[in-house]
Amino acid sequence: MEQVPITVDCEERFYLKPDAGRLLISPADETPSPPCDAQPEELDIAVCVDRIEAAFALRIGRIESKWAGLRSFVRDKCPVCGFDPQAPEFFWLAGQGGYGIQSAPALARLAAALALGGHVPDDIAAQGFALENVAPQRLGERA
Ligand SMILES: Cc1cc2nc3c(=O)[nH]c(=O)nc-3n(C[C@H](O)[C@H](O)[C@H](O)COP(=O)(O)OP(=O)(O)OC[C@H]3O[C@@H](n4cnc5c(N)ncnc54)[C@H](O)[C@@H]3O)c2cc1C
Repeated sequence: MEQVPITVDCEERFYLKPDAGRLLISPADETPSPPCDAQPEELDIAVCVDRIEAAFALRIGRIESKWAGLRSFVRDKCPVCGFDPQAPEFFWLAGQGGYGIQSAPALARLAAALALGGHVPDDIAAQGFALENVAPQRLGERA
């Protein structure tokens, strides 16, 4: 099982990956919710198992542990990073959606640079990163 790569459905209706000798599976759901201590819903677990069993020659016999959380987004699904245009003492670092762990090393460096009045780090800019895509200014426009 450890040789199986992380596998994501093209429409992101599920993903799975081996984790510590077991299989980590998710329905990648984005059900709108007010801020709360999210708990795993039995229906979402059943939907996840069903989608994965339909796509692979796998039978999910037992769920060993289950977990839920909130993925926070703004409308365009890009993070929000920078000083607020209306409250310039307030710095935004939010909306990482489902990728906040993987994006944290770069996003944290960007946030530190901007918070200290600096620019986008060169190596991040060299990847084609555009600051306007994460700027809080866009929240009142397209985000
Ligand atoms: C089911 C699921 C799967 C995910 N999978 C991945 C993945 O595979 N890869 C990936 O990169 N990302 C993944 N993410 C996204 C990732 O977990 C988040 O983007 C990331 O945790 C956001 O980090 P954060 O520090 O901004 O917020 P959080 O991790 O939410 O931390 C915020 C903290 O603030 C605390 N807090 C809230 N309000 C208050 C308050 N008033 N006072 C004091 N403390 C407060 C909370 O308790 C929490 O500890 C997943 C998220 C979910 C829900």
